[in-house]
Amino acid sequence: MSGPDPVGQVDAFAVPRFAGLRTFARLPRADDVDRLDVAVLGAPFDGGATFRPGSRFGPAAIREASALLRPYSEPLDVSPFAEAQVADAGDAGANPFDIPEAHGAIEREATALHNGGAAVLGLGGDHSVALAFLRAAARRHGQLSLLQLDAHTDTWDAYYGAKVTHGTIFRRAAEEGLIDPSRSVQIGLRGSVYASADYEENRELGFHTLLARELDDSGVEGAAALARQHLTLPTYVTVDVDVLDPAFAPGTGTPESGGLTPRELLAILRALAGGPRIVSADVVEVSPSYDPAGVTALAAANVAYDLVCLLVLARRQAG
Ligand code: MN
Ligand code: MN
Repeated sequence: MSGPDPVGQVDAFAVPRFAGLRTFARLPRADDVDRLDVAVLGAPFDGGATFRPGSRFGPAAIREASALLRPYSEPLDVSPFAEAQVADAGDAGANPFDIPEAHGAIEREATALHNGGAAVLGLGGDHSVALAFLRAAARRHGQLSLLQLDAHTDTWDAYYGAKVTHGTIFRRAAEEGLIDPSRSVQIGLRGSVYASADYEENRELGFHTLLARELDDSGVEGAAALARQHLTLPTYVTVDVDVLDPAFAPGTGTPESGGLTPRELLAILRALAGGPRIVSADVVEVSPSYDPAGVTALAAANVAYDLVCLLVLARRQAG
């Protein structure tokens, strides 16, 4: 890569981590750098939530929690902010009263970043925003493999007649051809559902699934192997923070007991390094008003950091 060295984080030995204006990981704003390899884009929208609202404040909470992120990842052996220009592109201006219009704004902002050559990391927002991010990513990269870490399938058909909610987007993404479910993987599914047909219909769409309770037998290695086996297209990774147990992530819209630990989730993500070609990702469903100790936002910030590392490693792999 030619050109100047990337602009990294604000120097924590000159300005302490608790000081200064909040960008993701104290990185520069996208407007302040002349190239962009990985862009962090907030999608502060929760009009697609079916139960607890509040994830419109998720991007701000994740940025606040990200102030502690340091420049070197020991498990992945990468300094993402030195190797690539990572910057904070701010938030899309999502209309809080209109789902298609909000998604349109998110898709436009993400498309502009993709067109500029950046890999996009989205911060939600409720999970419906993933549909907008997927539309932008698929326009750039073609049909995608999806790795979905989530307590829920999000492949229901409709809720109160609405076809686009945070519980229906991956059925829509399959219908639109944005993703190929037969080359996509869902990990962490659990909780009560309406009927056994919910899981049957999800399977009929083609998704490869690993229920949260199946992790007891498969281990993290089995989950990673499933992902590596099936994610054969350019891959989009979506992390619904409710994949974590409510003990670790109470601040979310639809919590379900019996979930993953952050250590399991991070281990699964890290096991993707050198595997599928990851082109874009998101972390969604952080709802700060249900997160009194900030642990959900902290977990999401650390997940976001590992996703940035994976995007930088994928970029290195592509040369
Ligand atoms: Mn969920
Ligand atoms: Mn979800």
